[in-house]
Amino acid sequence: MTYHDTRTQALTLLGGATMLLAAGLAARRAPRTAAGRHGRTRRRAEPPRRKVVVVGAGFGGLQAALTLARRRDIDLTLIDGHNHHLFQPLLYQVATAALSPADIASPVRGIIPASDRTRVLMATVTGVDTPARRVLTDAGAVPYDELIIATGSQPSYFGHDAWAKAAPGLKTLDDALALRRSIFEAFEKASVAGDAAEQARLLTFVLIGAGPTGVEMAGSIAELARDLLAHDYDMGQRRARIVLIEAGPRVLEAFAPDLSNDAARALNGLGVEIRTGTRVTGIETGLVHLHDESIAAGTVIWAAGTDATPVAKWLGVAPGHGGRVAVDAGLRVPGLDGVSVIGDAALAVGADGKPLPGLAPVAKQQGHYVARAILRRLRGRHAPGPFAYRDYGTLATIGRNKAVAEFGPVHLTGRPAWLMWAVAHIFFLISFRNKVMVSTQWAFAYATHQRANRLIIARGDQPPVAKPGYSVIPPSTNSVAPVT
Ligand SMILES: Cc1cc2nc3c(=O)[nH]c(=O)nc-3n(C[C@H](O)[C@H](O)[C@H](O)COP(=O)(O)OP(=O)(O)OC[C@H]3O[C@@H](n4cnc5c(N)ncnc54)[C@H](O)[C@@H]3O)c2cc1C
Repeated sequence: MTYHDTRTQALTLLGGATMLLAAGLAARRAPRTAAGRHGRTRRRAEPPRRKVVVVGAGFGGLQAALTLARRRDIDLTLIDGHNHHLFQPLLYQVATAALSPADIASPVRGIIPASDRTRVLMATVTGVDTPARRVLTDAGAVPYDELIIATGSQPSYFGHDAWAKAAPGLKTLDDALALRRSIFEAFEKASVAGDAAEQARLLTFVLIGAGPTGVEMAGSIAELARDLLAHDYDMGQRRARIVLIEAGPRVLEAFAPDLSNDAARALNGLGVEIRTGTRVTGIETGLVHLHDESIAAGTVIWAAGTDATPVAKWLGVAPGHGGRVAVDAGLRVPGLDGVSVIGDAALAVGADGKPLPGLAPVAKQQGHYVARAILRRLRGRHAPGPFAYRDYGTLATIGRNKAVAEFGPVHLTGRPAWLMWAVAHIFFLISFRNKVMVSTQWAFAYATHQRANRLIIARGDQPPVAKPGYSVIPPSTNSVAPVT
């Protein structure tokens, strides 16, 4: 026997042993059948599965998907244009270098693992073919029996879309990183600007809209600027100017007047100029026009309003206030069988007859409700009663040890409200890792006054990176093959 023969025999034996081992493992993993040890091939009859498609892995969609995942009678597909769930309430902390992107976002596949009944699809929805019951995406069409749409909202410029370039909004991680770059580049440029007027312009930050996002952002930029000018730069007595513009009569209008006054006092204490009752009449790069003056600014941020994503257009229904889709008491779209819309995209009415606000807890409770309703219908049980939102209170922070909290008649301010705000946000973060990371970063920043994420890591003049592997299918092209 030659060396070659011996080696071939050894390899054959090894191959055979590996195959036996693999076959053994496969047999152990094979699904059990009703035949059992008698060797019959009859399978236990599986209940018919309903195809449920959830669009959007934000607060509402993710909650619905978590309730429906791995149910034996449901084939679940969760579609999102991003591969992560984002905790938007802390986006402003990424923009102001207090946190990093991975602290407030979690990969969807890590939260909803794939299985034979659950699938995650990263794709952008472009329409819904309701007669054929298919969701149209840039990766193909996805058939559904039940559809839950939770695609949220987008910044609205009240018909002045041209302002978007000069005054970006804050909605995604890309927005937060672009804003962080813009803020830190402003300080770098100001530090070498020869002209005092140009230096002052670069260090002027204008925020439009004094709701929670505008207020939190203004407070955070004010604290950041104070710390940067004290420790990172040598610009003499130069101070940053932060202007918060609001068309309404007070900041944080959704809060009770005493809390709104307290927030205004706290902002003034940080040096923020508040202009209430002031309308923006025009925005161009580096310049914000008001009724009677123009403000030259290095950074302009839009936090004045949002509209729903174009769900009404996809469904062919008339949009309600803010582009939202009007839904009935069960959060279903009247006239469209099997379609529910939840969260910021839905116009649902509360017990007081007013539209429910665009808040994370509303979306989460609605996600849980529609998922339970689908399960009940599927199992032949009565439909649940009408959706009722449970309001556990609202919080907004202004800065270190400064926040406001409203729990019905109970109003808190200062450090107690700030501690409640911090604990609530850590509690509602989606993953254990994020809870640990955010608590650690906050504790470090509290003790040292330092923000570790002061990085300029991408330049604004770089072209956007195309999403690989996808070509956009126009909504009119309805004949794409189902994704299998
Ligand atoms: C900066 C900021 C701060 C906020 N602060 C607070 C706060 O402090 N407290 C509070 O309660 N609420 C806050 N909100 C509001 C809260 O985040 C929203 O009410 C909530 O996210 C709505 O949930 P949703 O499920 O409707 O949509 P979202 O959570 O926005 O999720 C929508 C999902 O749909 C996906 N999507 C959108 N379009 C498409 C498409 N065409 N195809 C595929 N996927 C798509 C998106 O990628 C996203 O994952 C804040 C919002 C922002 C922007």
